[in-house]
Amino acid sequence: MNMTHAVVAHGPHDLRIDELAYKAPGIGEVLVRVAAGGICGSDLHYYHDGGFGDVRLKEPLTLGHEAAGFIAAVGEGVDASLQGRLVAINPSRPCQQCRYCLRGWQNHCTDMVFNGSAMRFPHAQGIFRQHLTVPLAQCVFPAAGVTAGEAALAEPFAVALHAVRQAGDVFGKRVLVTGAGPIGALTVLAARMAGAVSVTVTDVADFPLEKARLMGADATINVTRGDALEQAVAEHGGFDIAFEASGVPTAQVQALRALAPRGTLITIGLGQEATLPMALVCARELTVRGTFRFHEEFALAVSKLPEQREALGHVLTATLDYTWASEAFDLASDRNRALKVQLSFA
Ligand code: ZN
Repeated sequence: MNMTHAVVAHGPHDLRIDELAYKAPGIGEVLVRVAAGGICGSDLHYYHDGGFGDVRLKEPLTLGHEAAGFIAAVGEGVDASLQGRLVAINPSRPCQQCRYCLRGWQNHCTDMVFNGSAMRFPHAQGIFRQHLTVPLAQCVFPAAGVTAGEAALAEPFAVALHAVRQAGDVFGKRVLVTGAGPIGALTVLAARMAGAVSVTVTDVADFPLEKARLMGADATINVTRGDALEQAVAEHGGFDIAFEASGVPTAQVQALRALAPRGTLITIGLGQEATLPMALVCARELTVRGTFRFHEEFALAVSKLPEQREALGHVLTATLDYTWASEAFDLASDRNRALKVQLSFA
């Protein structure tokens, strides 16, 4: 039996390095020697709280869904010359048969297997492990010169690209992003790529705001100090599009109030329940729209890695060996010191 090491959540603040078996790649599969894995907000929820909302750990869960690595072996039907190639692993495996998949809404698949998620039971195990056997179909090949760390950013980048797509035409629009964590920062970049005329970012901490500035934000506002957001709204009559990336109810209301008539609020953060001022939605003819994961944007994100290298470099603030997983999760939880933290499995 082939054995590998994995970062497994057994409960709140109970992260263990477990030895798990892995299978040799079968038909259409590859064995990936994982190199880098990014810690996401949902991983942190499992780590701190054992889950979020109705999604709870019911069995040990190997965390992680942002990963890249090198093909170490191939199964039947896979080109052997792919061995050694770097791949970004798409963590979503939609059924491609349900009503939503057939409509092209694979991110809403009724039978989705999404790595590192406790949404279904048995849980879909994650990719924070040294060896991972996956279908080749879940592997996307970055251009030469892309690093494993960069390739592992494709997943959160895809989330941001899908969020911006949900907003419709962003060209020439004034954009607000509330919450400057990794997803907020990547949304700044994606909004810029889509042609936003200005991007303003709010947060309650200065460190992520500095990073947002480096990602292309024109203005950053720490909402714990003063009323700069209200002033900005008064000055130019509100934002056309607000991306809410914090999941915090006060930020959701703030984002909605900052919109110009016929503005659109895109909610990215899976946060707590919020009470929204629906009279404002009515009077200003606002649109409130959600965004969830991604589908075709994953390959798009991978293809954009080389040209966005400099900006993406600002998102990745630390890389720790996987044996330091608890320390890495604590660091990733500290918004004054870290944006995206990755684990190294090399
Ligand atoms: Zn489906």
